Amino acid sequence: MESLTCTVCGGPLTVETTAYCNGCGGAFHFSHSADPGEDDCGQAWVHMQFLTLEFGCNVCLGRAPGQEPPVGMGH
Ligand SMILES: [Zn+2]
Ligand SMILES: [Zn+2]
Repeated sequence: MESLTCTVCGGPLTVETTAYCNGCGGAFHFSHSADPGEDDCGQAWVHMQFLTLEFGCNVCLGRAPGQEPPVGMGH
């Protein structure tokens, strides 16, 4: 088991909060719980055509300008 770090914010990842970006293949923070928007470093959505679950990190989504994590924003 090697420890993973987040592609977006560089923080440590745990199995429960890890997803893999379909764009760059990097691991990023994503809480698989139903609670939306808690410290996620990317997004997941269902592909309209294939109905598969797609993941995108904030870097690939263009939501991480300067790779700055949104710490303390809108909590
Ligand atoms: Zn992160
Ligand atoms: Zn990515």
